[in-house]
Parts: sequence; structure tokens; C-alpha cells
Amino acid sequence: MSKGKWQLRLGKGVNKITDIMSGKIQITNRLKFHALIGSIASVHIFLLIIFCVFHIMPLFFFNIFSVITYMFCFWLMCGTREHYLTIYYITYIEIILHTFAATVCLGWRFGFAQYIIAVIPVGFYICYTLNIEKRKFMIATLSGVFSAIAFLCCKFISFFTDPLVPLDNVILELSLYVFNSLCAFVFLILFSLIFVYEIKLSSSQLKHQNAILNKLASTDPLTGLYNRRSMDIFLAQAVETESRFALIMCDIDNFKKVNDTYGHDFGDVVLKGISQITGEQVKGHGYVCRWGGEEILILINNASEESSLRIAENIRRNVANRVFELDEKWIRCSLTLGIALHKGKEPVEDTITRADYNLYCGKRNGKNTVVL
Ligand code: GH3
Ligand code: MG
Ligand code: MG
Repeated sequence: MSKGKWQLRLGKGVNKITDIMSGKIQITNRLKFHALIGSIASVHIFLLIIFCVFHIMPLFFFNIFSVITYMFCFWLMCGTREHYLTIYYITYIEIILHTFAATVCLGWRFGFAQYIIAVIPVGFYICYTLNIEKRKFMIATLSGVFSAIAFLCCKFISFFTDPLVPLDNVILELSLYVFNSLCAFVFLILFSLIFVYEIKLSSSQLKHQNAILNKLASTDPLTGLYNRRSMDIFLAQAVETESRFALIMCDIDNFKKVNDTYGHDFGDVVLKGISQITGEQVKGHGYVCRWGGEEILILINNASEESSLRIAENIRRNVANRVFELDEKWIRCSLTLGIALHKGKEPVEDTITRADYNLYCGKRNGKNTVVL
């Protein structure tokens, strides 16, 4: 996820849920922090009302302070600078202090200490996604250790001291316990889900980038054909599997003249057009690569003399019939092709040499021809 652009990108008419599930939408840090602060602030507003109704004044005032704190966090998020780490620290400290205050006032049985447990994985998740590199594990680990200490301290405080505000309302006690437990679990489940989603998203982005890199590394950018490195791999595979295969070496006729007369750009148009024709004719039968400048090498799998001759002849005919065009200039071009069938345990270099020799013969015999 790129730092700096924290926008939730939504297209017109986009189904948000399916897009989130299919990974089209990135859960940005802005969205994450708005969700986090929004939900924590809502919990505090609810508690504020409860404490007011039941006259638990110390916690009522503490929650006013908490709500103001989260409003401050919202204000921090509105700025152009990213203060996410500061917001995380503020949230973390507020949750710990709130748990201490609630334990001192009401005791252990109301379940406020559960927030301290819930904040541990949230802390790891936030630190992980904030891209704060080396510090992130230290911050998350220290938060975890400190949470454990704070949790035990709360237990000791409640064990050795009586609640500041003694309450004899079992229903309120149970309700607040259930509410606090639910909130803690919802936080845990929600952030775990988002974490899994983000891991899935980044792994699919990685796969996509790998596919692009693979394509860049294996193809020729001008013609889109395989490059020589890829062809070396295909040739090695063909030899290894001992399949009958044929090689066809192609060379554009009088290509220098095309370049000299019509310019290099026109030459490129011709080269691309001929590569396209070759690719179409060979599709499903083997591989085509740009072997050198304007030389194309074709590997035909499970080839016989007839099948390779037929494919080569189709390519030659289609090239000869094509009119190449650029800037209202039109020309015709031709291709000479030399075929060699791989023989038994013959080194593949020898097959290439024979295909090359046949191409040379074709050039000598007047070009625009196929020689087997
Ligand atoms: P022949 O019929 O004997 O093959 O004659 P030719 O003029 O085609 O001779 P040759 O095959 O030696 O020509 C190679 C030329 O191909 C030289 C070079 O300028 C041109 N060429 C190689 N790569 C490219 C390219 O990517 N784009 C363009 N436009 N021309 C290229
Ligand atoms: Mg050449
Ligand atoms: Mg040529």
C-alpha cells in the first residue's frame, strides 16, 4: 500500500462489498484509523451515557476526557500530515488509563480489563501496516508486554482495594460485562479479518507484479514475441523431452532498403506486422521468438516435414499478401524461411545452423521462399 495516498478509491457504480472482497479497493490507513477511532469513540459515548445515568461521576468525567481525546485524534487525521503513529500512542494510552480508572472505580467484575487484551493484536496490526520499518516490531512488542503488565496491575488493584464507587446493581454489572466482552471480541475479529484480507491482497498484487516482470523478462518489447532467452529454454525443453520438432529461421527480405527508403519507424511497423502474422500462424503449434534484429526463429512441436512446410508457407504467403502502412505510405514486404527438422540426438545448435543454411539458400534463390 503506497504511503501518502490514503484515499479509498471508489469508482462510479462500483459495488463496494464485492470490490473490497475482490481486492479492487485498498483499505487505506485513513479508512482504518477512521474506523478505529470512530468505533472507540462510539463505545466511550455509550459508556458516558451509562455512567451519567448511574451517577458514576469519576468515570463520567473520565469519559468526557476520552471523547475529547478522540475528537482531537479526528482533528489530527484531517490534516495533510500523517499522524497515525501519534494517534496509535494516544489511543493505546487512553485505553490503558481508562481500564485503570474503571477498575479503581468499579472493580474487576465489569470486564473493562478485556480491552487491554483486545488492544494487543490491534497494536501489532496497526504497527505492521504503518510501514514504520524497524521500529514496528519493537513498538508492537513493547505495547504487548506493557499491556500484560497493565492487565495484571489492574487485577492486583482490584484484589487489594475496594471499588471507589461501590455498585450493588447485578444487572448493570452483567450488562456492562457483556457489552465490554462483545466490544473486545468485535475489535479482535474485525482487525483479524482486515489483516487476513490485506495479506491476501498483497500476495495477489505480488503475483500480478511477478507476472508482469516475467512477461518483461521473457518477451521482446517491440514485437511482443518471446526473446532469445525464452527460446533457449523452449529449445532445451524440446531436446529434453526428445519430441520431434522443427525449427524455422525467418529473415525479412531487403529490410535495410525498407529502413533506408521509408525510415526506421516504418521498418518497425513492418517488423511488428510480420511478427503478428507469424504469431497467429504458429499459435498452438509451438513458439516464436525474435532471434536477432529482423530474424525470427520458430519452434514447431511434434513436427513433420509436411506440417512445418505448411506453416512456413502460410506465413510466407500471408506476409507477401499484407500491405504495411504508415503515414499514408504503403509497401509490401516478403520473408524467406529456412526449415530444419531436429534429428535424433543432434545438438540443437546444429539444427539451428541447418535452418540458417536453408534460409541462406532461399535468399540466394531469389528470396520470398521456403526452403526445407
Ligand atoms: P536480406 O534480404 O538479404 O535479408 O537483406 P536485408 O536488407 O534484410 O539485410 P539484413 O537481413 O542483413 O538486414 C538487417 C537490417 O535489419 C539491418 C537493420 O537496420 C535492420 N533492423 C534490425 N533490427 C531492427 C529493428 O528493430 N527495427 C528496424 N526498423 N530495423 C531493424
Ligand atoms: Mg538479417
Ligand atoms: Mg533481411
